[in-house]
Amino acid sequence: MKIAFFDTKPYDVPSFDKYGSEYGITFKYFETKLGADTAELAAGFDGVCAFVNDTIDAPVIDRLVELGVKVLALRCAGYNNVDMKHAFGKLHVLRVPAYSPYAVAEHAMALLLTSIRRIHKAYIRSRDFNFSLSGLTGFDLHGKTVGIIGTGRIGRVFIDICRGFGMKVLAYDKFPAPGLDNGDTIRYVELAELLANADIISLHCPLTEETHHIIDEAAIGQCKRGVVLINTSRGALVDARALLDGIKSRKIGAACLDVYEEESDLFFEDNSGHILEDDILARLISMPNVIVTSHQAFLTEEALSNIAETTCKNISCFFAHNQCPNELCWRCSGTEDCKNGKCF
Ligand code: NAD
Repeated sequence: MKIAFFDTKPYDVPSFDKYGSEYGITFKYFETKLGADTAELAAGFDGVCAFVNDTIDAPVIDRLVELGVKVLALRCAGYNNVDMKHAFGKLHVLRVPAYSPYAVAEHAMALLLTSIRRIHKAYIRSRDFNFSLSGLTGFDLHGKTVGIIGTGRIGRVFIDICRGFGMKVLAYDKFPAPGLDNGDTIRYVELAELLANADIISLHCPLTEETHHIIDEAAIGQCKRGVVLINTSRGALVDARALLDGIKSRKIGAACLDVYEEESDLFFEDNSGHILEDDILARLISMPNVIVTSHQAFLTEEALSNIAETTCKNISCFFAHNQCPNELCWRCSGTEDCKNGKCF
């Protein structure tokens, strides 16, 4: 099996080479992203392997199919960058539903602690032998209320971590997880109640039409003054302009962002020698109470290894049986059945 691997980064190669040789898959690594201009590169390959910021819209799908590509193996959980309806019946789309929820949830907590204990400020000060504590006052997490939007794999690990800190949890999910609500320290509530009562809000739902800008001007208006917002899920869950306004008005106390609405042309790349065209991102980064990492939450050794192993298993399973439990289907993707691999 020959697979064209797009948007390759150096940290991808060792684990994909390792599991590729175990599963009889040859990867050709392309640095470029997959999109309309680069789909041609897939000529002669059985499948393509893509990541979060590749563009797999209708024209790209049609071109891949014309080139004889049978399968799109996403090496990520989210699939908002794929036109699933258009792919249906033409191109099989596989994904890695879970690789290390701990990687993302732990990064969310790392961002939160960094932000509220001003570690990012203290680190820079002490490197300059500035040992002053002025302006570094934080607050305890113990006893605070965290609002979790999306209580799937990552959301639930983040809940465990927050409970370890002695926080109370208000959860919101379209499909609540049975047994999670204990009527006391973890309660499912409506979104409005979560927004009104949470000291910290962390987003762990997928990006869909319904969740696009789930945090917008109106939602921010309902929040407590000084709320801390964490987004390690997908950028477009948050209206970045409304977030900036919320920070300027002091309604939002801090923002911890691993993802950004318009990240696709910026994140994962070294843009240090360029003028940043995105004024909203530039302004957000300039704020003392905003921390931005560039879609880094997944980046642990464990996650990279799990991603490569599951992607190779998916490809191998698909070509052996013409189906794979991790295939996405537009009719059921995102539902409980699909998540449980019952979409066949
Ligand atoms: P998951 O499928 O296990 O959980 C998602 C949860 O969101 C589910 O419980 C689902 O019912 C819920 N949900 C769906 N629609 C909703 C809605 N309209 N309102 C509220 N909740 C809704 O997924 P996961 O593995 O926990 O991952 C969550 C998200 O994290 C992914 O969709 C992906 O976008 C993001 N992610 C980011 C990184 C990163 O590196 N930053 C890495 C992996 C995943």
